[in-house]
Amino acid sequence: MSAADLVEQPETGITPGVEKGGFRDVLAPDHARRGKPPLHFVDMSHAERITSVQALGLPKFRVQQLANHYFNHLSTDSRTYSDFPAAKREEAAQQFFPNLITEVTRQVADNGTTIKTLWELFDGSRIESVLMRYTKRTTLCISSQVGCGMGCPFCATGQLGLTRNMSTGEILEQVRAAAVMMRDGQVAGGPGRLSNVVFMGMGEPMGNYKSVLAAVRQMSELPPAGFGISARSITISTVGVVPGIRKLTQEGLPVRLAVSLHAPSDKLRDELVPMNRRFNTTQVLDAAHDYYLSSKRRVSIEYALMRGINDQAEHAQLLAKRLNHYGDNWVHVNPIPLNPIEGSRWTASKPEDEQQFLEILHRAGITATLRDTRGSDIDGACGQLAAKMTKQA
Ligand code: SF4
Repeated sequence: MSAADLVEQPETGITPGVEKGGFRDVLAPDHARRGKPPLHFVDMSHAERITSVQALGLPKFRVQQLANHYFNHLSTDSRTYSDFPAAKREEAAQQFFPNLITEVTRQVADNGTTIKTLWELFDGSRIESVLMRYTKRTTLCISSQVGCGMGCPFCATGQLGLTRNMSTGEILEQVRAAAVMMRDGQVAGGPGRLSNVVFMGMGEPMGNYKSVLAAVRQMSELPPAGFGISARSITISTVGVVPGIRKLTQEGLPVRLAVSLHAPSDKLRDELVPMNRRFNTTQVLDAAHDYYLSSKRRVSIEYALMRGINDQAEHAQLLAKRLNHYGDNWVHVNPIPLNPIEGSRWTASKPEDEQQFLEILHRAGITATLRDTRGSDIDGACGQLAAKMTKQA
């Protein structure tokens, strides 16, 4: 791996690294043919914001007011800009806050505490986000790419291939919309605050590194520079794109890293997660452990339990051995019951196998909790709603 690979992440979404062992990103037929989304306030640097404000004939302090409307008041509605010159409100809203995401459908489950929204983007692409309210926190799961190029055979999004990377604006608009839902009491339990964000929707965040990082920074800055969601409450998940993990380590942000491992050996993971043929389990775990050492944040290991494939005692034992190789207490394993694609050969584990898997990890001294399957009655697995809607469209 060259230093250039570590520094420059391609924004096409195509995975960096030496091509070997047969991994190729799965690209949708219209990959990178959709053009770029309109530029949004959050896509601009401070200097670009000032230039744009001045182009409207306004002084640069107006940038601060726009930031306040967006991040503090969660508003892109120029009619509410009472501190802004009336003649320029409409123009400023159009210039800085183009509509980037439009709600297509909203599904509600878990007694109103889970809301899954399907969004349409400027080019007709569809992505989704899921808002989940718990007793002490509210978590939003967001998408960072249209489709995904990783090609995991058990995953609905993987079947679509990668269409394009999402812009920072498209990523952050999902967050703003959820923050509005919480503030306005649209989620059962009354008005509240969005506290956590996880990049576990559609796409591989490390394939869209720059936009994802710019979004993370603006989520975590205090208003009016950002939404004020603590970086410690933001999780970036990856299927194991090692250059991305290495680069994130160098950022020094206290975000949580989640690695979708799904298999304890290269032989099995080569089959379940094709990316493993580019970056194998040893490279991925080494990078994840280095992230832990540098950030002091425990790494989450995501593991989708598939009946008879990766959920047997021998798999749990090998997983425990490989994780304990790096020492104690550096990971938290989240086995997730698979939400299968209709008609696929990958199905969810039997409950007794799930229990056995957990117990083996616990006996080996590894923290592990079965991840809750919120929204499973509304096509809860990543990408499934969008895949379904795309087929219908
Ligand atoms: S499981 Fe995750 S990484 Fe794999 S294809 Fe699906 S969205 Fe992409």
